[in-house]
Amino acid sequence: MLGDIAPFRIAGNLYFVGTHAKSCHVLATSRGLIMIDSGGIDTVDAILESLDTLGFSPKDLKIVLLTHGHPDHAGGAKRLREISGAEVFLAEEDLKYVGEGPSGFVPDRFLQDGDEVALGDTVVTCLFTPGHTEGSFSFFFDLVENGMTYRAGMFGGSGVNQLKKSYMNRPDRRVSYLMRGAFFKTLDRLEEEHVDVTLGNHTWQNNQDEKMKKLFVSPENPFIDPTEWRKYLAREREALWKIIREETKSAFVNYAHRGASETRPENTMTAFYEGVALGANGIETDVQMTRDGVPVLFHDDALLRVTGEPGSIGDYTLAELRKFTVKKDGMTDRIPTLEELLAALSWRDLTFAIELKGEGAEEAVADLVYRYGVDCKCVVTSFVLDRLRRIRAIAPDLRTGWLKKDFTDEDIEAMQAAGVDELCPRAENVTPERVEEWHALGFNVRPWAVTDDALMRAAVDAGADGMTVNFPDRLAAYLGER
Ligand SMILES: [Zn+2]
Repeated sequence: MLGDIAPFRIAGNLYFVGTHAKSCHVLATSRGLIMIDSGGIDTVDAILESLDTLGFSPKDLKIVLLTHGHPDHAGGAKRLREISGAEVFLAEEDLKYVGEGPSGFVPDRFLQDGDEVALGDTVVTCLFTPGHTEGSFSFFFDLVENGMTYRAGMFGGSGVNQLKKSYMNRPDRRVSYLMRGAFFKTLDRLEEEHVDVTLGNHTWQNNQDEKMKKLFVSPENPFIDPTEWRKYLAREREALWKIIREETKSAFVNYAHRGASETRPENTMTAFYEGVALGANGIETDVQMTRDGVPVLFHDDALLRVTGEPGSIGDYTLAELRKFTVKKDGMTDRIPTLEELLAALSWRDLTFAIELKGEGAEEAVADLVYRYGVDCKCVVTSFVLDRLRRIRAIAPDLRTGWLKKDFTDEDIEAMQAAGVDELCPRAENVTPERVEEWHALGFNVRPWAVTDDALMRAAVDAGADGMTVNFPDRLAAYLGER
């Protein structure tokens, strides 16, 4: 036997023909075979032998559905197509994974969300579920076993290792950070599906070894378990959160405060881009609502100091505010919207600290944060604890931070009760002992009002997790020195 698993029938017309490391399934329809994932180039021979063992011929293979373009699941498709003449289906978004190199190929059809791929008596519903890759698809179909109909589901893009920072930032990968947000949205969507038979890209994802042990001895089919799907999705969700929590714990966040506001007009795109150019790995900004309900980025209550105009943000519509100019040392820019900032920079390796400055911005902020997929790399802050309570009521999984001059025991209790994650004191109130104490209580510590280099150094040395500075270049240099 070439493979390490003898092929077998899972349920209904569904068979397993893959290996321990690379799952490959076939559906035996009344008009030939639909294969789900092709395995790698190195497992084609084992798959062909498994088909033969089950009494199928390669010529029976009509359709190969690929969950995503990674080589361990799509690498065998080209050769299988040559042997069988089957049509290969993959999402266009994953072409970059299969289109080049000696085993590269172009699929015969691009999968579209909601496609129903039919062959003979079998229909496979295809859902676009990006995250693991840009074009991951999940497949659903009915299996008839002992007169009962069961729904089978293959989450085509599970596994979160490629959503680690170290992987995403590799120059040969360049995976957008938006994929983390996409992965969470995919999990939300898949939770809506009812699934009785959970399949995996890899055998360990659906505990296949354990089920195989029971398959021929127990009266019940161990592959039929309507509780497994949601448990599986919950495990995937927790696995990505674990990565994100560990990364945010270990990485010091150097927030460009209102952008690089020491040298550029504050809270403008010019200042945000300059902050990134100077080595910041975070952007801090302030949100207020315009009169016509658009969240824009502006710090002061009054427009006067930086624009020279009368009144405040809420007195004007966005169109009116667009005519104003934010000034700094002869440089000018306009007031940006929160959406402009996220559209420009959400895909980068940046943490966003978004301060709720005015009233009533909570819903608009949460909406944009999710829409641009930065929910897992942002912290929503405010001096007003009630605003944090409101944001948590709307979006309980968003991280929040309370800005305060200093923190009493009562403040800490209030924060814990409200579920606030980050404690943001003035820099002069940060000492190593207090940081240790706050960390022990589970809070991130991120000082503000870091007005000079001495305060900056002291806060870094005290063990803070990040800070807002107007001069991210000097903070980056100091972090580099240490
Ligand atoms: Zn993969």
